[in-house]
Amino acid sequence: MTNDIENPYKAPDSNLLPENDSLLKRKKGYIIFEPETTWPNRCYKCNAPTDHKKEVKLSYCTPWIALLIFIHIFIMIIVYLFVKKTFRIELPICDKHLKRRQYVITAQVITFLMIMGSIAIAVTINQGFTFVAIALVLFLLMITIAFGRFGHLAKFKNDELWFRGAGKTFLDSLPDYTP
Ligand SMILES: [Zn+2]
Repeated sequence: MTNDIENPYKAPDSNLLPENDSLLKRKKGYIIFEPETTWPNRCYKCNAPTDHKKEVKLSYCTPWIALLIFIHIFIMIIVYLFVKKTFRIELPICDKHLKRRQYVITAQVITFLMIMGSIAIAVTINQGFTFVAIALVLFLLMITIAFGRFGHLAKFKNDELWFRGAGKTFLDSLPDYTP
């Protein structure tokens, strides 16, 4: 009995090596792939072997939609919700990077609650703090979006997704993209 029959879930050893026949391609900081492509069993941040995959939902929408903000922000949001395409991607991630992300989110939630708490106190004392309060919350929201997410889709072109957010070692292990 071979090892593969004993453990059908065992990752092929070739996954530990750089794959030149990889279905994922790389161009600068982007990973280009078709939406159904299965990612290799290597952490997309540090390239360490991993069996863990994190399902993430990423949306893409043409940036031209942003021009609708000149008409009205709510029209932009409504059109965005109708036009955006959402993809389910199983990102391979090692324990270290999964934990690191959880720490970041926890720290953000605690900071957020502390700011909200001190703002609530400040506002009851002085109404002038309301503007500072809103600015602080928006600032924190932007930081959360920038650091809390797994990555984002920069493009969807010719049935191929352009993903940004992978680590350099993982990117370096991928073959170059040739359109
Ligand atoms: Zn990692």
